[in-house]
Amino acid sequence: MKVIKGIYLLLGSNLEDRDENLQQARENIVQQVGGIICTSGIYETEAWGVLDQPLFYNQVVQIDTALGHEALLHVLQGIEQKIGKVKVGKWRERLIDIDLLYYGNRIVRTPTLTVPHPEIQNRRFTLAPLVELIPDDLHPVLFQSHQKLLATTPDTLEVWKVK
Ligand code: AMP
Repeated sequence: MKVIKGIYLLLGSNLEDRDENLQQARENIVQQVGGIICTSGIYETEAWGVLDQPLFYNQVVQIDTALGHEALLHVLQGIEQKIGKVKVGKWRERLIDIDLLYYGNRIVRTPTLTVPHPEIQNRRFTLAPLVELIPDDLHPVLFQSHQKLLATTPDTLEVWKVK
């Protein structure tokens, strides 16, 4: 068991060329945010919240950045817009979605940003790639490892590692 030291993002896409969208997100992150330290595999997942939409690709990336959490969120939102977020409705299709999962062990609760991301423990598609990268690290609010969170999540949606 150990504390989270890195900064982790979740990338998601379920429209058009999902591989290409994730790749563009990673390239923009390297250009605008800092380096990518490591990446999980890519997981295909059923859509959470709304079932009648295309399957998602999801990936967790660990990044290195000099930006603080608010500035980081702002830059990530700019990248989402640049790649072309299509807002059809909450939980609907999008070319790319980027969530800030963890900023080290930091706990942030502002009107625009909640860190750790509040849905981590409720989403198998977030927990599966986190278990690949940091299985034993403790969630700084729930004080449980990702292995434990994945074993006990109420989420029943299927997740497959595709590459
Ligand atoms: P969505 O489009 O569903 O990804 O939601 C984006 C909204 O969630 C934005 O308005 C953000 O300000 C807010 N938000 C709060 N916490 C986070 C977080 N940890 N990562 C990404 N967006 C967040």
